[in-house]
Amino acid sequence: MTSELRDSVTGLRTRATSRTPRHFEIPKDNRGLIKKVSDYFGELTFDFKTSEDISDATKKEIVQAIDNGLGIKKEHAEAVAKAVTAWAVKNGATHFCHWFQPLTGGTAEKHDAFFQLSKDGKPIERLSATQLMQGEPDASSFPNGGSRSTFEARGYTTWDLTSPMFLIEAINGRTLCIPTAFVSYNGDALDIKTPLLRSISKLSIAATKFLQLAGHTEATSVMVTCGAEQEYFLIDKAFYFARPDLVMTGRTLFGALSTRNQQLEDHYFGLIPDRVLAFMQELDYELHRLGIPSKTRHNEVAPGQFEMAPIFTEANVASDNNQMVMTTMKRVAEKHEMMILLHEKPFAGINGSGKHVNWSMSDNTGLNLLEPGNEPQSNLRFLATIAMIVKALHRHAKPLRMAISGAGNDHRLGANEAPPSIISAYLGDTLGNIFHSIATDQTFSPTQNKVIDLGTNQLAHLLKDNTDRNRTSPFAFTGNKFEFRAVGSSHAIGFPMTILNAAVTEVMFESNAYLEAELLRGQSIDQSLMSLTKKLISESHQAIFNGDGYSKEWVEEAKKRGLPNLRTTPEALKTMTEKGVYDFLVNLGIFQAEEIDTRYNILLERYIKIRQIELETMIDMIHQFVIPSCLEYKNVLAKVIKNQITIGVSSQFEMDAFKKVSTKIDEIHSLSQNLHKELAGDHSDHQKYAEKIAAELMSVSTTMATICNELEELVPNQFYTLPKYYDMLFLR
Ligand code: ADP
Ligand code: MG
Repeated sequence: MTSELRDSVTGLRTRATSRTPRHFEIPKDNRGLIKKVSDYFGELTFDFKTSEDISDATKKEIVQAIDNGLGIKKEHAEAVAKAVTAWAVKNGATHFCHWFQPLTGGTAEKHDAFFQLSKDGKPIERLSATQLMQGEPDASSFPNGGSRSTFEARGYTTWDLTSPMFLIEAINGRTLCIPTAFVSYNGDALDIKTPLLRSISKLSIAATKFLQLAGHTEATSVMVTCGAEQEYFLIDKAFYFARPDLVMTGRTLFGALSTRNQQLEDHYFGLIPDRVLAFMQELDYELHRLGIPSKTRHNEVAPGQFEMAPIFTEANVASDNNQMVMTTMKRVAEKHEMMILLHEKPFAGINGSGKHVNWSMSDNTGLNLLEPGNEPQSNLRFLATIAMIVKALHRHAKPLRMAISGAGNDHRLGANEAPPSIISAYLGDTLGNIFHSIATDQTFSPTQNKVIDLGTNQLAHLLKDNTDRNRTSPFAFTGNKFEFRAVGSSHAIGFPMTILNAAVTEVMFESNAYLEAELLRGQSIDQSLMSLTKKLISESHQAIFNGDGYSKEWVEEAKKRGLPNLRTTPEALKTMTEKGVYDFLVNLGIFQAEEIDTRYNILLERYIKIRQIELETMIDMIHQFVIPSCLEYKNVLAKVIKNQITIGVSSQFEMDAFKKVSTKIDEIHSLSQNLHKELAGDHSDHQKYAEKIAAELMSVSTTMATICNELEELVPNQFYTLPKYYDMLFLR
């Protein structure tokens, strides 16, 4: 890396374009044949349910304890600890760690050696039940948003039995990771996982009851399913380290657009470049070993942009897996001399990256609640389910918008390429029409029922081939699942999923009560489901929008419909201080009131810190890179002008260029001086300051970026010392 920092941009270009794709081979089995995915899938994971070293009786009791929400017995934990230690040590692990998702958005781990001294002083490998079940990291070193735990520095990590343990590999050894939740001394959730688990079990209760009411009596539990598509950019490592903005902030703070970027629409699903394919192949291998069912890989819309998608799994596992995907991507990319950019908007002017969180619910019999089904009977249940989700989206639009907020996503949401900040649902034409007819019909006579039946019979077939390719909706129904597309590419998916689960749970509980009352007054279940659907849709049809979410008309229309449009993170976060908006989370037991305050403080502070780092980095880069390049150019121009005067030749172009560069330097220098003063001021009112950043300072920084880009275009390549968009997006 240091030698790369000494290289000129020309040197970096040579470096980036002369690399050969990294060769890597999938190991062979003992018959000399290349291993198949099924041979190594999950080889780095340990699941007590499949371990041969744990008795069936113990496994059964642990599963029962999980299902009934009871704690696991110490002797069972001992059995698991013994089995996993044997397995991990046999596989070369020297250490174990509690692996958790604190509120930093990433993951944290603290390593301990398996090694212990026995009573008589002999070294042995051991993990005790207590060590497996509980850890004690210092909570005050993680974001805690001023919760009581700041004073009570102790925090606890507790083993999550539902997510498999796994081995991470470093060049010199392996470490066993134990997925855990992270709570404060008082039991406040200081992580992403705890509320997610709470929301999953609450939704299971509500949805199971709903299924039983709807006549599907075999249902005893419902799980949330999730498949998170991950978009990312890949750039050569040489350019990354030469751009302090990428290293410090994850995005380019300025940079002139290359003449060709995505206009020709030639990148999406195009031929995957060799070096990138080599990366993807190794990535898939590593993910599969970790038991992550990576399935799809392709080019995305912008040059240098790609995507991977796994086969969906249970939501909590999917949430852990997505964190592992992001970490594994970074690791593998570096082996290929590339850097992965997970920021929502690494390059202005071309598409940003998101994470499409595909979401559904499925019961213990394997029934997907969002599968339209072939029969009117199941269609009615399906229609009611969709209506409940639309209702939840409409009622809790603010918390849902809050859950996808963040400095990075602000550049993406509502820009003319990404879902807008207005939360609405896309249902497609068929379903949209059915709901429209349900909502506008005043009564449900048998004839109308027939019409609906016809519609729903068609529905089963139509929906399958009609799955939406309208990418402008933040929340789209795609055949047998919803796709929450507004989630940012760098986000922990557990948080938005928690809010979504909670919102749906609340409406489901209410709907169950409604259905029970209807049944009690002698209505059939079909009639009850139909009237429930009608009621919910008439209350919330405003949230259904099938048109172009990128259009200005939609912003106007949404306003008329009374839908909130929270454009920036500070606006979205402010809703956390509004009365009543977040009560449902507390009422359902998914968050305590204090945990919501904690998150408000943490998210707001994070927004401010990120923006501050961005603005300071920008000022710094202008003085370290942009202005010095301009001065070199001016120097040359001055010499040429002087020489030309001596020989009596006019210097019109040179004079103009000189003046232009000078004026722009003065402009940008004065803007950055003002900004510098602004940043140094008193900002004790965080909400106010965050709003000011979003409303004023960001537009100053946009003006500054524009001037930088103009200078980049004026100054000859040879004097420009930063890699350009051209380099980062096209050279590899
Ligand atoms: P599309 O091409 O419309 O994006 P895919 O079939 O490629 O659809 O699926 C995208 C993601 O959705 C994948 O991760 C897939 O596993 C996931 N998915 C499919 N069905 C479900 C479901 N029932 N629940 C959650 N995720 C699902
Ligand atoms: Mg998709």
